[in-house]
Amino acid sequence: MSFLEIKELKKVYFTRVGGNQVTALKNIDFTVEEGEYTAIMGESGSGKTTLLNTIALLDQPTEGKILLKGKDLASMKDKEIASFRRNHLGYVFQDFNLLDTFTLEDNIMLPLVLAGEEYQNMRNKMIPIAETLSIDHLLEKYPYEVSGGEKQRAAVARAMITNPDLILADEPTGALDSHSTDELLKYFSEINDKGQTLLMVTHSVKAASFAKRILFIQDGKIFHQLYKGERTQKEMYEEISHTLTMLTKGAK
Ligand code: ADP
Ligand code: MG
Repeated sequence: MSFLEIKELKKVYFTRVGGNQVTALKNIDFTVEEGEYTAIMGESGSGKTTLLNTIALLDQPTEGKILLKGKDLASMKDKEIASFRRNHLGYVFQDFNLLDTFTLEDNIMLPLVLAGEEYQNMRNKMIPIAETLSIDHLLEKYPYEVSGGEKQRAAVARAMITNPDLILADEPTGALDSHSTDELLKYFSEINDKGQTLLMVTHSVKAASFAKRILFIQDGKIFHQLYKGERTQKEMYEEISHTLTMLTKGAK
């Protein structure tokens, strides 16, 4: 049994206007082992967010199965979903999704507040994470008082605070400058070295080059994959660029 198993996943959206159908995911099949750091690459509109949102239980697949440690997520009951997501999954969004009327501290602790934890416990869990992410001096600030990179680090702290089985990240560097991008990717590599399983979707070659394995998605299907193996991040960057060029040529 794999850690995460995606089996014949399909997602069709029915638009309200005109009753049109959009097939966002045709047939997605892959597995992720515990401790892997996987990036999913694809053009805009290829189904990356849809895929991540179905795994995160933010959206329901039309067909197929998603198994996390053998548990079938797609058939989970509504009332189970919120607490399951809180206990097992951490989600990092491109646009941070922090609450503007909450301080960074309150944003980071929110998943634990919702789980009914005591304040001191929450502080004890938060402080080391905030320190590692170098935002411990910003905890009393509001999101609009800090930079994009700092907001994203707070969002990552919020995702990490429940000690999730799986971190899901949707274009996490998409709104960051290059320095903040480097910091975030360095942090992801560090937590992965300590055993954190990560699944990140991105169209950034740089972001993907930090992952240990890359799946390429096009038109709602996975059509290629690359393993980092012994390659350095720079070599991986070259390899991904090369692969993307070959794949686009092949598609024409
Ligand atoms: P990506 O994240 O790779 O850019 P998405 O998963 O957001 O791609 O979208 C995949 C396809 O599904 C696109 O054609 C998009 O327009 C469509 N789509 C996404 N969300 C919806 C929705 N809620 N309703 C209808 N179509 C959608
Ligand atoms: Mg997207």
